[in-house]
Amino acid sequence: MLFRSVLVSALLALGACASAPKPEPVDVDVTVSPAADGTWTADYRFGKAAPAWAFARSAVTEADKTPWRAQAWTVETPGVSLKRIGRYDVLSADGAALTSVRIRFKPFTEQLEKDYRPTLQFSDGGQAHYTNQFEIVPLTSAAAAESLPVDVDSETVPTTSRLTFDAPGRRILYGGSVLDGRVVTGTGSGGYAYFGDAEVIETPALAAVIDPGIPEWLRGELDAYTPKLLALHAEKLGPPAVGRPMVFAAWGGADQPGVSLNGGVLGGLMQMDLRGQRVLNPDKPVKNLARWFLGHETAHFWLAQTVRAETGADNWMMEGGADILAVRALGVLAPDYDPTRRLQGEVDDCLGLVGPNEPLAGALERGEPQAQYGCGAVLLLAAEAGLRKREPGADAYTFWRRLIDANREDGVVTADDWLAAFAEATGDAELTAETRRFVTEGVADPAAFVAKLFARTGVAHSVGADGKLKLGAN
Ligand SMILES: [Zn+2]
Repeated sequence: MLFRSVLVSALLALGACASAPKPEPVDVDVTVSPAADGTWTADYRFGKAAPAWAFARSAVTEADKTPWRAQAWTVETPGVSLKRIGRYDVLSADGAALTSVRIRFKPFTEQLEKDYRPTLQFSDGGQAHYTNQFEIVPLTSAAAAESLPVDVDSETVPTTSRLTFDAPGRRILYGGSVLDGRVVTGTGSGGYAYFGDAEVIETPALAAVIDPGIPEWLRGELDAYTPKLLALHAEKLGPPAVGRPMVFAAWGGADQPGVSLNGGVLGGLMQMDLRGQRVLNPDKPVKNLARWFLGHETAHFWLAQTVRAETGADNWMMEGGADILAVRALGVLAPDYDPTRRLQGEVDDCLGLVGPNEPLAGALERGEPQAQYGCGAVLLLAAEAGLRKREPGADAYTFWRRLIDANREDGVVTADDWLAAFAEATGDAELTAETRRFVTEGVADPAAFVAKLFARTGVAHSVGADGKLKLGAN
């Protein structure tokens, strides 16, 4: 099915421009505006007295693991500094309570380590800014940032906020609406506000802003595969809670060798950035990478947005689940795809990143988020193999369909729910108890545990003379 161009007004409700009532007082009121030179300003006004404020989203860059704000943000208010303290970027002024702070920034368009790109840059000049890059929480002192846990936000440190994008004359797409120059939302709302004039294209399965710079052959692939993929996920998993999703796909250019594909899913929105020389010409591995990436990210409309994990520590269920569902989708939609390399990578990541007596649930705190993908995938491979022994034809979709149906109402799948489903799928109480230990406490010999897990459930594998676990056809 091809994307069909439509008038934007047919898709998106026109945002009403009502006369604004007096705004509610909030702890953090920030207005973000473009300047003529391509920089932007963020004007913070604080309604709560605090000597320091930490930015909730303080990831480091993927490329060189350094804090990104130091490269792109400048504090213009005299006496106020922006410093890295512990895992957070912190605003402070020598102990005095902050009242208002002006920051000038160049939209930061590079990939961050396991976080959303602050700004998606489209090759026609359009930009989409992530709301939560402006999310900030109060601290009792700047030094208190040293001991903050890894996943602080304005819910865990209750902080009310208002985020206003003020860009007179600019067309903005936000939250399914087209708006004229102004968006008012919260700093923790988890969305991208798109500023630009690109056409919105839509199919029954999705609506999208696709960068016109993306090479034609891959645009064609996005056109053809994505609607089929979303239809397959929905057929196998039931309807997603988020309705018809929106896709922002940006082209980052061919300056770098190879291919890079990054992005993520937020409340009914998938955003992605493609770049690299290898994307310029049709290339089968790049095509399969793009299909797998789309499979993973769109799976999150179910695994994360229809049912979510209770805590970040349990996200191995969602990330490993999305990885395997992407592989199973390829098995249906592209039967010539061989998943062995991808699945072996999951095993290697898992065993490389979870050591003796290290719980999988502690991977995020240990700074090894990739372990959630690898080990989550390994555990799900075992669950589906165990299930397939009793129900030929069952796969990861079958396993997850049951978890979703059972938990759709409260919208949460806990590790206990997952382990109960594993026990049911495998009929193996002892193996389930050991799997629980792997998740919550760690096991003495992770490689021996995974070998046993595969042997007992029937995941095809062999163990080499070097002790290395090698997957067969699964
Ligand atoms: Zn994911």
